[in-house]
Amino acid sequence: MKTVFRYIPSFRASAALTAVVLAASLVMVFSCAAPDRGAYQPLETLPETEIDLPGGDDVPVVRVLVLETDDRIRIDIPDGQVAAKSEDGRTIGRCEVSGTVVVSKTRNGLRLKQRNRPVHEAPVMELRPSEDAGFTIEDTPYRGGLLLRRSGGKTILAINVIEIDDYLKGVLPAEIGYLKEGQYEAYKVQAIASRSYALSKLEEKKNELYDMQATIMDQVYRGIKGENRVASEAVDRTRGVVGIWEGEPIRAYYSACCGGHTSDIRVSWPWKAHYPYLYGHRDAPGEGVKSYCRESRHFRWEVVWSGSDLSRITGKTLPAELGGRVAPFNVIRDIRVVGHAPSGRARVVEIVTDNGTYRVEGDRIRWVLRPESAKGPILRSTLFKMEVSRRGGRVRQIRLKGGGNGHGVGMCQSGAIGMASGGYSAERILAHYYPGAALSKIY
Ligand SMILES: [Zn+2]
Repeated sequence: MKTVFRYIPSFRASAALTAVVLAASLVMVFSCAAPDRGAYQPLETLPETEIDLPGGDDVPVVRVLVLETDDRIRIDIPDGQVAAKSEDGRTIGRCEVSGTVVVSKTRNGLRLKQRNRPVHEAPVMELRPSEDAGFTIEDTPYRGGLLLRRSGGKTILAINVIEIDDYLKGVLPAEIGYLKEGQYEAYKVQAIASRSYALSKLEEKKNELYDMQATIMDQVYRGIKGENRVASEAVDRTRGVVGIWEGEPIRAYYSACCGGHTSDIRVSWPWKAHYPYLYGHRDAPGEGVKSYCRESRHFRWEVVWSGSDLSRITGKTLPAELGGRVAPFNVIRDIRVVGHAPSGRARVVEIVTDNGTYRVEGDRIRWVLRPESAKGPILRSTLFKMEVSRRGGRVRQIRLKGGGNGHGVGMCQSGAIGMASGGYSAERILAHYYPGAALSKIY
């Protein structure tokens, strides 16, 4: 049965919204008080719910930025069509293409060449491979189609326009790894979380040039090269299933390991919109029992800086995060945590230098307290205890004893794998990490 999608704006009361919420609540309501108990409706029996999404497609399509370059782009396309378009979407020209095409910048737009002959010049090029033919861009094959356009006059954007489930197949192995037998439910959890996240971006980005990047900025996506058979099967078996809250796909954030307690979104990103299903809770079946993610190699860790390393690193990272108000400094006189969240995460870190005191908030702490160098990997998490030794009016050494890897908001991937290994179903795992949301099948 085909499903009609119409988007329902946030918090706007409407008959359609009421119907969706009612339908969703009949489907399954996640319990936050006792997430690991109670009856959970199997995914296979979820009734279809209609919700509206931008684009109006029967199956949602996402636009993923796969390459941005100021150089020419080489594309191999076995068979298909290219449409040259104006900025406002009018088709200027159209032709068949097969083999290698090269797209380069012109003064005001793009030029597409085939067999060294210019075929089209236009601001936007839309490549539509024949059915399932796909295309290859810089040696990486993709499903779906390709949109090429200029950005800010400088670079060319290559945007993969693809049905959401084909996109998810290129996301899952990159995001949750290759799972062992007995952990299959975690693939289903990741499929539903990644689908929900992607759909939640469609409305937010509908007036922008693309919906998501193919990196950790959104979700890592590697096209066909990134797929594996078992993960793809999990995408197929959860087809159309998303987390829903107030009639909208949930913003299903996830990270590698929560260290034993997930983070409230208001602690990690106080500057972002708040969703009630993203609050912090123990990642365990109860108090005083072991965490689901305890097997992760990131569950506990330690980092030590000398005072001089810390001032060298933060001399670069503080201005990068806080901007021009950071004055050059030589010495760090003190560093301290100002306020902990119930999860144990630092809310604010205050750094006292010989030329000013700076406060760093939420997840930005990870970008400032980089372990190795100002360009190296960021701190694994803000869940840590800090030990500071000072002498002669300056910090001599700081030691962080921490837990987890990532922002900690929403699903803990290591915990989801731990729960799957322990026999929990995808539905129950999702209920644990996004309490208060409901599952629904929307296409
Ligand atoms: Zn965890």
